[in-house]
Amino acid sequence: NVSQLPSRKVSDKSQQILERNSRFIPGGMASVNRRTSQTLAFARGAGAYLWDVDGNRYVDYHAGFAPYILGHNDPDQQAAVNQSFADQLSNFGSGPTEQEGELAELFLQCVPTAERVQFLNSGSEATAQAIRVSRAATGREHVILIQGSYNGNQNVVAANLMDSVEMLGGRQAAGGEYPLNPITAGIPKGEAALLHPVEFNDLEAVENIARRYEIAALITEPVLQNIGIVKPDPGYHAGLRRLADHYGFKLIFDEVKTGFRAALGGYQAVCGVTPDLSTFGKAIANGFPIAALAGKTELMELAMSSDATRRVLIAGTYNAHPVTVSATLACLRKLADPELDVYGYLDRLSERLTDGLAECFDRHGLTATVVRQGSAHSFYFLPEPPRNWWEIISGHNFALDAKLRSLLIERGVYYFPTPTKQGSISFAHTAEDIEFTLQMMDDAIGSLNN
Ligand code: PLP
Repeated sequence: NVSQLPSRKVSDKSQQILERNSRFIPGGMASVNRRTSQTLAFARGAGAYLWDVDGNRYVDYHAGFAPYILGHNDPDQQAAVNQSFADQLSNFGSGPTEQEGELAELFLQCVPTAERVQFLNSGSEATAQAIRVSRAATGREHVILIQGSYNGNQNVVAANLMDSVEMLGGRQAAGGEYPLNPITAGIPKGEAALLHPVEFNDLEAVENIARRYEIAALITEPVLQNIGIVKPDPGYHAGLRRLADHYGFKLIFDEVKTGFRAALGGYQAVCGVTPDLSTFGKAIANGFPIAALAGKTELMELAMSSDATRRVLIAGTYNAHPVTVSATLACLRKLADPELDVYGYLDRLSERLTDGLAECFDRHGLTATVVRQGSAHSFYFLPEPPRNWWEIISGHNFALDAKLRSLLIERGVYYFPTPTKQGSISFAHTAEDIEFTLQMMDDAIGSLNN
């Protein structure tokens, strides 16, 4: 219904900001992952909405790469942060604080499979530490990575997606192992040789590699949420658990995206498989910079080992910063509040959205599949939900995906303008936001042939 299309002002302000920033910051912004072909600079966010620098409003499904589970500028978090200043909670950087203990206790109540927890500043720190702990515990060095699982920016997890069909031949020849396609330059060859990427949902490849190398750890997002939403086959995680126990490596679930989003206890609470270690970030603090490394006591206590050859250094000036801890406590208390029933609300809204998207694609005769995991969702132009990255690059219509995202932005709906990126809804989204989004998707698809 075109009469309901929001009018949109577009100036070159976003582009100007990018150009000005680029005189000082390579790429014009602090994280290259935020660069897209369609530069949009935002001025503010509140609840389910973002406003760009031209004053246009968007229903936000990007959620800053997924942290915002309560919505932007959540009032309870704001009050908690203000209170932390009123209480003069400085970053003492000296001795324990009561608040970090409170947060740890609440965290462990939320994630019952974890026995101990440590707080860090970013997901990348947490995943790198998880691998370090696994290496210290096993005395081994090799690591199995999963294609399509983004686990951060550090050398130990920096394998990029394979982007060519030719790579498949090499993989088959190597018993399921992909050649390493490093995400960054500057990784020493010796370190790269310790990393073994395999496809998601391929237990045989994991076993082949576990037979050939002394594996310290396998790290994976339990649901791949950096290439849309790719779910595990029934029994996949139980299979990983069995292989880890049999071959003596540690199983690490990188729950930076699934943690506190798939469920209060993370995806491990959904699938019923307990990893040795897991990492959290993003939704744990609704947008504040904190991450957690959690796991079995015997592994986590390696930070305190009396044997210096096994002791792992977990330290950081800003670890458990009091302002961030206050914001995180406020977030977790809300997420854990049975009266609010955040997850029930998110599930209902998310289901309405994904059902509506599927109906919409169907109505327009598009071959598409919509995948949902709790409050996160994704759509692919494929007949079936993909089981791995390979099925996506070899079948998905990336051009149509990019085009639709761009048309939605023009209509006031913000999905990150890069194909396959997941959408996330927040507790601040309303049924009206969802209906508006569905109308705009319908209109965007209708305009494709114009
Ligand atoms: N692990 C997963 C699953 C992620 O999605 C990300 C970031 O997107 C990271 C780790 C890295 O977290 P950070 O960007 O906070 O370093």
